[in-house]
Amino acid sequence: MFRVLLYALISIFAITFIRMVVGILTKGFADLLRDETAGQSARKPSRQVPTSGELKPCRQCGTYVVAATAIQVSVHGETVYFCSEECRGKAGV
Ligand SMILES: [Zn+2]
Repeated sequence: MFRVLLYALISIFAITFIRMVVGILTKGFADLLRDETAGQSARKPSRQVPTSGELKPCRQCGTYVVAATAIQVSVHGETVYFCSEECRGKAGV
């Protein structure tokens, strides 16, 4: 009779222990995923085209582009900006 009780207790402890381990693993995995997601969102801005800085209108189509990333062409000493090579080609400069 005592042995049955002992087995029952061991089973309960074993189940509790397994649940605890699974809980820790699941939590750890969730943390890992969260870190991955946070890391991705942290890395994102560096891959994006800079959105701050001086804005210049494209001479051909009028689209405002960041001066740092725009195509700059010097025409008669004046710097003109283009949003793309296509616009630059159309403008003929
Ligand atoms: Zn343009």
